[in-house]
Amino acid sequence: MITGVATEPIIIFILLLKTYVYKSFVILYIKTLNTKIYLKNEGVNMSVFENNIKRLENLKEIINITDEQMQILLKPKRELKGNIKINGKEYEAYRIIFNDALGPGKGGIRFHPKVNEDEVKSLAFWMALKNSLVGLPYGGAKGGVSIDPKQLTKKELEDVSRQYMQLFYENFGQNKDIPAPDVNTNSQVMAWMLDEYEKIKKKHEFSMITGKPIELGGCELRAGATGQGGAIVLDNIIKKIGKNPHETTVAIQGFGNVGSYLAKFLYDKGYKIIAISDITGMVYENNGLNIHEILENLKDKTYLNELDLEIKDNNELLYLPVDVLAPSALENQITKENADKVKAKIILEMANGPTTSEADEILNKNNILVIPDILVNSGGVIVSYFEWVQNKLGNFFEMEDLEIKLEKILNKATDNVFNHKLKEKHDLRTVAYALSINRILDAEKLRGNCE
Ligand code: GLU
Repeated sequence: MITGVATEPIIIFILLLKTYVYKSFVILYIKTLNTKIYLKNEGVNMSVFENNIKRLENLKEIINITDEQMQILLKPKRELKGNIKINGKEYEAYRIIFNDALGPGKGGIRFHPKVNEDEVKSLAFWMALKNSLVGLPYGGAKGGVSIDPKQLTKKELEDVSRQYMQLFYENFGQNKDIPAPDVNTNSQVMAWMLDEYEKIKKKHEFSMITGKPIELGGCELRAGATGQGGAIVLDNIIKKIGKNPHETTVAIQGFGNVGSYLAKFLYDKGYKIIAISDITGMVYENNGLNIHEILENLKDKTYLNELDLEIKDNNELLYLPVDVLAPSALENQITKENADKVKAKIILEMANGPTTSEADEILNKNNILVIPDILVNSGGVIVSYFEWVQNKLGNFFEMEDLEIKLEKILNKATDNVFNHKLKEKHDLRTVAYALSINRILDAEKLRGNCE
């Protein structure tokens, strides 16, 4: 009894001390942005956001970002957090709006057990860069719930979607922050969220969310847009480096919305997809897989291992000697631990943040061309923009016109990155970050927020 009473205050004291030390550290890193002290885990395993700080720190010297500008760039505008209750269990829910100098927040909402604050913050930061790079009138935002939707019934999934909107509806709006689908969310989830928002607000506002079903103001191109966009960017670069799609082999990690549409669009352009994988395994065929057949057979199934095909270890996919490796699942797949094992010539970053900053250095040293996520996977948000404009105007554009426009925006952004003079000395990610951060900083200067 006496021991119990005595240890409790000690534990509380230790916990308070830990929080104090952590907080002091955060304050220290903000105060010392011109030094490298704030990279507390450098050399160990950096968090996803620490990777972003490191990349920005490297860029600071290249494009002369001032300390004042660094502080603006690294500070989220709004960070919202809450809890969602399903069957007596609580799950964390987030919405983070990063820099919004260029316009309202824009970015998806993911449902995944690994969702956490550091990840959502990084994803919001990347959205800000992505939107800026391709010239959209948006800031960056991202949301998530730390839940596995595959374990939920349809009714429970609807409940999660509606509770999410009840938590954060005040933050959303067509000129404030506009969500969309991301990992494990789709047009049905967007429909429930829209409906909840409109019920609370007692008005219709299609343009407050994108990636909706067609019947509720969605855009036909949206479902496959991220994959389609990736195929457009790759095709542009393959031609620039004098290669032919028919002799280009591709391996795709992840066969969800992004990976499967990428496979379809590349297959239709004549690329040879020799391997695809999901969490259950890898399907491999040296002479090229028939993607249409696989997609047809997957219609009433969820995972690759349910197909009548030989299944191999999915870990092998990252190290196949292919021309193009397309990580299309989650962040932190290529790290300093495995980057040296990658044999692909080109990495097409379909996922957000699949490569860490330390892996970047190894891949560059090994002459592997990394086409960065903020360019490669921007097709989704570009088509979200078309949807938003249509909803705001109360009008619809022809699908062919939108496809031409998507291609134009992506080719222009790809040319801007690939032909930039910084490319003589730096990798494509550095060039893309430089272009995008300069646009954000121009907007910040015009608003009078910095020099
Ligand atoms: N979730 C997608 C992304 O990461 C799309 C975001 C959007 O359409 O707003 O780019």
